[in-house]
Amino acid sequence: STERVINFGAGPSALPLSVLEEAQKGLVNFDGTGIGIAEISHRSKEFQAFLDEFEQNIRTQLDVPPTHRILFTQGGGTGQFSAVVLNLLARHRLLHPTATPEETVLDYVVTGSWSKKAAEEARRLAAGHATVRTVVDSRVYSKDGKAYDNIPPHAEFAFSEDPALIYYCENETVDGVEFSHDPQSPASFPFHLLKRDTLVPLVADYSSSFMCRPIPRLADHAVIYAGAQKNIGPAGLTILIVRQDCIVDVDAAARLGATPVPLSLSYKILADSGSLYNTPAVLPIYMSGLVVRRMKENGGLPYYEEMNRRKAQKLYAIVHEGEQKGVFRRKVQQGSESWMNAVFEVLGEGAEKKFLEGAEKEGMKGLKGHRSVSSHALLCIRVSLYNAITEEEVDKLIAYMTRFLGES
Ligand code: PMP
Repeated sequence: STERVINFGAGPSALPLSVLEEAQKGLVNFDGTGIGIAEISHRSKEFQAFLDEFEQNIRTQLDVPPTHRILFTQGGGTGQFSAVVLNLLARHRLLHPTATPEETVLDYVVTGSWSKKAAEEARRLAAGHATVRTVVDSRVYSKDGKAYDNIPPHAEFAFSEDPALIYYCENETVDGVEFSHDPQSPASFPFHLLKRDTLVPLVADYSSSFMCRPIPRLADHAVIYAGAQKNIGPAGLTILIVRQDCIVDVDAAARLGATPVPLSLSYKILADSGSLYNTPAVLPIYMSGLVVRRMKENGGLPYYEEMNRRKAQKLYAIVHEGEQKGVFRRKVQQGSESWMNAVFEVLGEGAEKKFLEGAEKEGMKGLKGHRSVSSHALLCIRVSLYNAITEEEVDKLIAYMTRFLGES
């Protein structure tokens, strides 16, 4: 088919059509240089100017303070599962040169399958050097004791005294669980439990919620990272926001016994080279730069926050309605639902298949959920509502769901 469909996929995911059309032109001739963006030198002044504007558009929209650097790298969220452990263990070694492996603690908040993976990678890399602690595991607080379906109560977050890092995943893409941004909500991140007298090494994985709304307490974070391939652009670019005290001399730390950090993962190498130590992901940077430029023109994060709020509210309302009719079942507990990835089941033999096929006939794809979330052999439904999904597109899905309920 030559027609574009509505792509509710979880990532890579929909990008704004206007950006794709502009990028087509840049692919042939970037910024009047006569050279396509995939062909031009990353050291050219034109690319440097584009990179500077890109960084500035992230900094102003997210209100990133001068205490934090914005860095661009590759390797995705998975690359950062490793990089953040190595860089922050190096920082900890410089602060505590004689700390034993038992005294070198990495705190992991586990609320879904991505934070579980991040903690597993920490265990691999820290073996023999440091101790990985699960601060809290949300499965304990789930309906059936097995599912990642909630943000646990604040009282259950037992942070270590002086950890090398505290990791959490803001939005669990597979499970559809997200920290609330309302500080009054019991599902918010318990920032009030963090020590206030030191620079807390708080790390947040924002892979699937980056720039869909402002980041609460951004300045209190040590590292925030996100792969571009959900809200921002194509896969291949990873965006980092790193507080200056976490950009450390990893070689000096290694001389004190820390694990050596590969050059391509070192925050200091990235920072000292302006993210151009080696060839960056030029094309993904270009497309992502066009996306954040367009976001600014549309009114920035307040605009996207309101739009994303409305999209999620509408969608959860119809899922709720379907639940009352015994047709749908929500997977996530009230208050912990993600704005970006709504996960639910369609009840009854063959019902999910029917739901997916009906949606596809109407030009809506990417609605199949992740196998691991399903309680039975069939897949559940996951609707991803990233920035590029418009309200009209959500309305179209809701109209379909309403008809589906009528026929069930
Ligand atoms: N963290 C989260 C929250 C994710 O959604 C993903 C990927 N979907 C990852 C980490 C892993 O990212 P990548 O595939 O870019 O390595």
